[in-house]
Amino acid sequence: MNVLVVNAGSSSLKYQLLNTQSGEVFAKGNCERIGIDGSFIGHEEKGAGKSTLEVALPDHRTAIKHVFEILETVDAPVEGIGHRVVQGGWYFPESAVVTDETLAQVREVAPLAPLHNYAEADVIEICRDMFPELGNVIVPDTAFHYNMPERAWRYALPRDVVEKHHVRKYGAHGTSHRFIWRTVNEFMEGKAHKLVSCHLGSGASLCAIEDGHCMDTTMGLTPLDGLVMGTRCGTLDPATVFYLSRVGGYSIDEIDTMMNKQSGLLAVSGVSSDSRDVCEGADKGDENCEMALEMFSYRVGQLFAEMAASMGGVDTMAFTAGIGENSVELRQRVADKLAWLGVEIDPELNAVRSDDPRVISTPNSKITCLVVPTNEELMIALDVEALLG
Ligand code: ADP
Repeated sequence: MNVLVVNAGSSSLKYQLLNTQSGEVFAKGNCERIGIDGSFIGHEEKGAGKSTLEVALPDHRTAIKHVFEILETVDAPVEGIGHRVVQGGWYFPESAVVTDETLAQVREVAPLAPLHNYAEADVIEICRDMFPELGNVIVPDTAFHYNMPERAWRYALPRDVVEKHHVRKYGAHGTSHRFIWRTVNEFMEGKAHKLVSCHLGSGASLCAIEDGHCMDTTMGLTPLDGLVMGTRCGTLDPATVFYLSRVGGYSIDEIDTMMNKQSGLLAVSGVSSDSRDVCEGADKGDENCEMALEMFSYRVGQLFAEMAASMGGVDTMAFTAGIGENSVELRQRVADKLAWLGVEIDPELNAVRSDDPRVISTPNSKITCLVVPTNEELMIALDVEALLG
C-alpha cells in the first residue's frame, strides 16, 4: 500500500510517500513558513533529487493542495493518509480511523499540546474534505504509552484534580519506541524481553518495554519531562516554577519558553542545542560544553536505571534517533555511566556506520546494546495499512 504520512506543525507540514511492503520512499518534503512571508516547499523525490519551490502558503489547505499536485508526477498513487498526532490524551490506546468522533477527540485533548494538535486536527479535516475517497488514520505519539501500569502514569496529586484535568503521564515518541521494539524483537529473534529504548534526538526520551508492553517512559504530561534535551531542561523540582514566578518575576509563558526553548544542551553549553557543536566545543576544551555532555549522559544513565527498575531488570538497550544513531561519542559516554550495570560496548563496533540494526556491545556485556535506526513514518504507514488495507 502507498501511504502518505503527514506531520503537521503550526507553520510547517512534513510529508512522506512510502510503500508499506518494501519500505521504499517515493517522495518526501516539508512545507515551511505556512502563513508567514517567504514560504516554500523543500521536496525530494526518488531519482530526481532535491528541489525547492517558492510558493505562497497562506494556510495548511493550500500547502496540502500543493503537496498533492507535486505528488501527481510520482508513479505511486496515494492509497491512504496517516497523520502523526502528538497528543492522543485519554482517548487513543492505539491508532484510529478518522471519523467525526475521533477528529473531535484530537481537538478535545489539544489543550495538552496546543502547538501541535490544533494544526494536526485542521490538517486531518482538510485531507478528509479534499480527498473523501482516501482513508485517513490518526496515529498518536502517546498511544504506545496508554496502557502503562497506573503506578507509572498516575501523578501523586489529589484524585479529583487528576480526574477533572486529566493530569497524568502521557509520554511521547511512542511511535518510535513501538517501531524500535518491533525491530529489536525481530533482530534478536525473540530473545529480548526487557528493553530500554533510548530515543536520543533534539527531543529525547527513554521507554521501558517488557515483551512489547510499555511499562514506563521518561516524558510526562508533556515532552518537557525527563532527560536533558537540545533546548529542554527535563526533570527538575516542580517548585522551580513557583519560585521563578514569585521571586524571579517571570510570567508563566516566559517560564514555559525558558524551559522548552532556552534550556538543555543550549543553556548549559552556552554554544548550541546541537550535540555535534557541543561535542566539538568539548574537544577543544570548553568546560561548559563538557558539562553539557556530562549532564546529558549522566541523566540518560540515571533514568536508564529508573526504566530498568520499572521492569525489575533489563536485558537489551537500543540507541536511536539523531544522537542515538549517529553519535559514537555520546553512546560511549552513556555506556560508561552504565558500566556498574555490566554494560560494555566495543569501541570498534560502536564506530561502525550503517543504516541497519546492529549490536555494539561486547560478548561479555550483561546488557545487549544495539543501534537501531528509527522509522516513525514506516510505523505510521503500517498502521494505516492495518486499519484500511
Ligand atoms: P529531532 O527529530 O528531535 O529534531 P533528531 O533525531 O534529528 O532530532 O536529532 C538531532 C540531534 O542528532 C542533534 O543533536 C544532532 O547533533 C544529532 N545528530 C544528527 N546527526 C548526527 C551525526 N551524524 N553525528 C552526531 N550527531 C548527530
